[in-house]
Amino acid sequence: AGLQFDKLLTISVYVEGREKMNPIERFEEAPLHPVMLRNIKLAGYEIPTPIQRYCIPAVLEGHDLLSCAQTGSGKTAAFMIPILSKLMGKASSLAAPRPVPGSTEPYIAQPLVLVAAPTRELATQIFDESRRFCYMSKLRPCVVYGGADSATQRMELKKGCDVLVGTPGRLSDFIERGRILSLKRLKFVVIDEADEMLDMGFEPQIRKLLQSSGSLFFIRTLDANEDDDQQVLMFSATFQKAIRKLARDFLSDDFVQIKVGRIGS
Ligand code: ADP
Ligand code: MG
Repeated sequence: AGLQFDKLLTISVYVEGREKMNPIERFEEAPLHPVMLRNIKLAGYEIPTPIQRYCIPAVLEGHDLLSCAQTGSGKTAAFMIPILSKLMGKASSLAAPRPVPGSTEPYIAQPLVLVAAPTRELATQIFDESRRFCYMSKLRPCVVYGGADSATQRMELKKGCDVLVGTPGRLSDFIERGRILSLKRLKFVVIDEADEMLDMGFEPQIRKLLQSSGSLFFIRTLDANEDDDQQVLMFSATFQKAIRKLARDFLSDDFVQIKVGRIGS
């Protein structure tokens, strides 16, 4: 554990869970997939934000993480860039087969990535960002949220879905109804704005999402294949007690904790 200062950006980054963090200064320093590097350029992102400098290498190295950073610090790209980059090389072997056109068999979406966010607006923003970064890859993102027609969202899922962004209520609904969505292929679970979701009363849904993927993770480890490891990332503006408990319950013991904030705050 230690405190590291990025004087240039007057940001303090507190990293727990490992001796030394090696943040990247430039995106090109990280071992990112060439398609991802091109998509970052297309997005117009020239240099990584402080949270991205720490999160990108930590996620690429396979760590679970709990991260605390202010709104507008670039959290979405901090998890989307390394996750999607890792999947780009392997999407064809990991992803579920696409639906067969004209088939009468029920098609169940089996995403590799699940991102839970508290509101429709946030889920949509994350979805838009994921579309940018999935460009020219085989990965297909989808978004689901409440207060909108679920039939349309189901139709999108039935075209195939590798990256699923959604609000906890609608996600749980689709999982519980069965024959729509399965978590059995999940490699990455991201809980964004975790404190807000807990404040909104979504703790049972979040725990259930994490449990469903976690128990299946246990089954997968039975035919131990290094590639089958699952990563869980949690983002929260505050580290209230319930958040720390959630992290203890669902993150691996050696999770990395990254706090980014203004000096003095
Ligand atoms: P947060 O989730 O932390 O509130 P976002 O991920 O929504 O922040 O990012 C805030 C804004 O900054 C978005 O418009 C995003 O496109 C932009 N952004 C993120 N990373 C970078 C970067 N490295 N360079 C330039 N703009 C960025
Ligand atoms: Mg955000």
